[in-house]
Amino acid sequence: MLRSDIEKLHRTIMARFVDEEVIPVARELDEQGEFPFYLFRKLADMGILGIRYPKKVGGSNGSTTLYCIAMEELARGFLSLAATTAMQCLMATNGLYLYGTKKMHEEYLRPALSGEKIGAFQLTEPEAGSDLGAVRTSATKVKDGWVINGMKTWSTSGPYGHFHTVLCQTDPAKKLKGLMFVLIPSDTPGFSHSKKFDTLGTRTSSLSEIYFNNCHVPDEYMLGELGRGLNVLLTILAEIRIMTACLAIGLHRAAMDDSIKYCKERVQFGKPIGKYQLIQAKIANMAVNLEAGRLMAYKVTHLIDKKIACLNEASMAKYFTVESACSACDQATRIFGAYGYSMEYAVQRYYRDNRFLLYGGGTHEVLQTTIARQFGI
Ligand SMILES: Cc1cc2nc3c(=O)[nH]c(=O)nc-3n(C[C@H](O)[C@H](O)[C@H](O)COP(=O)(O)OP(=O)(O)OC[C@H]3O[C@@H](n4cnc5c(N)ncnc54)[C@H](O)[C@@H]3O)c2cc1C
Repeated sequence: MLRSDIEKLHRTIMARFVDEEVIPVARELDEQGEFPFYLFRKLADMGILGIRYPKKVGGSNGSTTLYCIAMEELARGFLSLAATTAMQCLMATNGLYLYGTKKMHEEYLRPALSGEKIGAFQLTEPEAGSDLGAVRTSATKVKDGWVINGMKTWSTSGPYGHFHTVLCQTDPAKKLKGLMFVLIPSDTPGFSHSKKFDTLGTRTSSLSEIYFNNCHVPDEYMLGELGRGLNVLLTILAEIRIMTACLAIGLHRAAMDDSIKYCKERVQFGKPIGKYQLIQAKIANMAVNLEAGRLMAYKVTHLIDKKIACLNEASMAKYFTVESACSACDQATRIFGAYGYSMEYAVQRYYRDNRFLLYGGGTHEVLQTTIARQFGI
C-alpha cells in the first residue's frame, strides 16, 4: 500500500472512532472534568498510544505523520482527551524509550503503550516556565543512584501518573548545561502531588503540582547523559511543536464545521445567516487559514519522518495553526451570537480549550523570538 493510502485509511478509522465514540460524550466529559480512562484504553487497543514506537517495545511501528493525523482527529472531537493522549505518546514516553533499560521498558513503557500505566512529563516549576535555565529541582549523586528534591507545577496527568519524566538540575552553576532527565515512579518514597487544578479549559487533563522529598532512584533511571537534558528535549522539540499544531488543526476544524452547520440553519431577516457576506467572510477566513495550516503542518511531519531537521518550520507551523485556531474559535462564538455564550453548544468549549494550545510547546512570544533569530536578530 502507498504511504498516502495508509495515511488516508488511518484518518478514516480515527475519524469514525471520534464521530461514534468521542463527540457524543465530549460535553458530559467536559462537565464532569474526570479523565476518561475507558476511551484512553480504547485508543491503546487501536494501537494509537504506541503509534510512534517499534513493535519490540509494544508499539505499532507508525510514523510522526500517522501520530499527528490521529491527534488532529482526536482534537476535532475533544481537545482535552487529545492533549493527554498526545503527551502519553510522545513527551511522557520518549526518554524512557530512548534511554531506559529493557527492564524499564517492560515495567513502564509497554504498560504505558497498552494504556495500563500513565506517564507525565515535567519541566515547569513555579519560577521556571519558558526559562528552563531556572529549573531548581535538584538531582544529587549518591553511591547507588540519585536523590531528587524540589517541585514541579502544571503537570498534565500529575495526580494519576504512574511514572514521571522529570527535568532536574545537577549543578546550578552550570545552568542549562547542568540539566538532566530522570524517571521517577509515583510509588517512590517522598513523591507526592497537590490536588487537581481548577482550569478554564481542557478540563479532563488533570493538572497538579508535584513534590519530591528525597526521592531516591537508581542510576539507570537517568534518561540520557549527565548535563544533556536540554539536548534530550531538543531531539523531540520539532515533534512536540508539530503535534501541538495538529491539535490546533483538529480544534479549528471542529469550530469551522459547527459554524457552517449553524449558519445554514439559523434564519434572521428571512434567510439563513450564511447568506450574508460578513458571515461568509468569517467562514472563508477559517477555510483559508485551515488549508494554509495543514500545508505547513504536514510538510513538517513528512520532514520529521525523513529525519530532516525542521525545528524552524515546526515553530512557524505551531505559531500559525494555533493563532488560526484561536481566531476560528473566536469567530465561531460570534457566528452563534448569544448561543455561542451558552453552555448548550460546543463552541464555548472550543473557545475555552484553545487557550491551552498557546502555552504547550512554547509560548508564542518565545516562538516569535526564535523564528526571528534565524534572520540574525
Ligand atoms: C493546560 C496546560 C498543561 C500544561 N502541561 C504541562 C506539562 O505537562 N508539563 C510541563 O512541564 N508544563 C506544562 N504546562 C506548562 C507550560 O509548559 C508553561 O505554561 C509554559 O512553558 C510557559 O511557562 P509559564 O506559563 O510559566 O509562562 P512564562 O514563561 O512565565 O511567560 C509569561 C509571559 O511572558 C512571556 N515571555 C517569557 N519569556 C519571554 C521572552 N524571553 N521574550 C518574550 N516574552 C517572554 C511569555 O510568552 C508569556 O506571555 C502546561 C500548561 C498548561 C496551561
